[in-house]
Amino acid sequence: GTEVRLAARPDGWPTQETFTVTQAELPGVGAGQVLVRNLVMSVDPYMRGRMNDAKSYVPPFEVGKALEGGAVGEVVASESPDFAVGDVVLHGLGWREFAVVDGANAVKVDPKLAPVGAFLGVLGMPGLTAYAGLLKAADFREGDVVFVSGAAGAVGALVGQIAKLRGAAKVIGSAGSAEKVAHLTEELGFDEAFNYKDGPVLEQLEKAAPDGIDVYFDNVGGEHLEAALSVANRGARFALCGAISQYNEKGEAVGPRNLMAAIGKSINLRGFLVNEYGDLKDQFFAEVGGWLAEGKLVARETVVEGLENAPTAFIDMLRGANTGKMLVKIAD
Ligand code: NDP
Repeated sequence: GTEVRLAARPDGWPTQETFTVTQAELPGVGAGQVLVRNLVMSVDPYMRGRMNDAKSYVPPFEVGKALEGGAVGEVVASESPDFAVGDVVLHGLGWREFAVVDGANAVKVDPKLAPVGAFLGVLGMPGLTAYAGLLKAADFREGDVVFVSGAAGAVGALVGQIAKLRGAAKVIGSAGSAEKVAHLTEELGFDEAFNYKDGPVLEQLEKAAPDGIDVYFDNVGGEHLEAALSVANRGARFALCGAISQYNEKGEAVGPRNLMAAIGKSINLRGFLVNEYGDLKDQFFAEVGGWLAEGKLVARETVVEGLENAPTAFIDMLRGANTGKMLVKIAD
């Protein structure tokens, strides 16, 4: 089957030369394993970090080997008592047409519950990140004014909507285009939104939040974090989820230069990883799944067709081509 390998570690922004799309021999299916035909795979910002040869919370990808990441596929052969041919499973070996997966690393999903891509987005890792990050890391409370950056992306779009559903006084989002800003206010129910490319974040945030903010959900870092520190109310809570403005930059990291504001205003800066919140999975699935079924939650996806276009999908996601979750459709 086809697979996508890491050809070279990117220095700065990844390019097509970062990847090779090639044919691979399938390994045999051993005891306890299943052969999966992938239907859809995820491209996520954290994958950029795994392309660096740096020690992190996940080991780096290896040059010359297939990339990895979330995928949903159909079991086409099974040597595991836990899975039958025809089962649909979520697993970690995306970037390839066929995957041999250890049963322990696959989870059955119900394709009748939602389109399969949802298990990589709203009902999957990004969904739990939004839910746990807002409710736990940021300790969200009813009546909070919430600001979220990367607001039109997979995680950010859910953060804003969950905050509204849980009783936020006001939800403000920032994103990188006029279309995304309109999507936030017109389709997702954000109270205020701005395009961070239109002018300084601080000026635009001050205008959107004249009474300050109580929660900042940070997907972006840098100038956004600095602006949020400036407008934050006393005792504000910040969930530090990502810093995508810095993942591809080679120069020195920018700001926040005003970190000291956290002292004077007793701001709680809380970094987190979604893996810490496995315990919340059932509650998340019930509550977010319920909202989705009731039509209270919009979960847009941007779908790129064809595994051979996965490198393009990944690069485009980093540059902001997606609204909602970026997915690659591999097969029907
Ligand atoms: P998104 O769907 O939000 O896609 C990435 C988006 O980032 C793009 O669409 C683009 O939107 C935006 N972006 C790119 N460059 C910049 C920039 N310089 N400044 C501002 N925005 C930029 O991805 P996810 O929802 O999957 O992830 C969002 C964040 O959450 C990332 O930082 C990711 O690393 C983090 N994350 C953290 C997890 C954790 O456990 N802590 C788990 C999952 C995700 P635009 O057009 O608006 O620029």
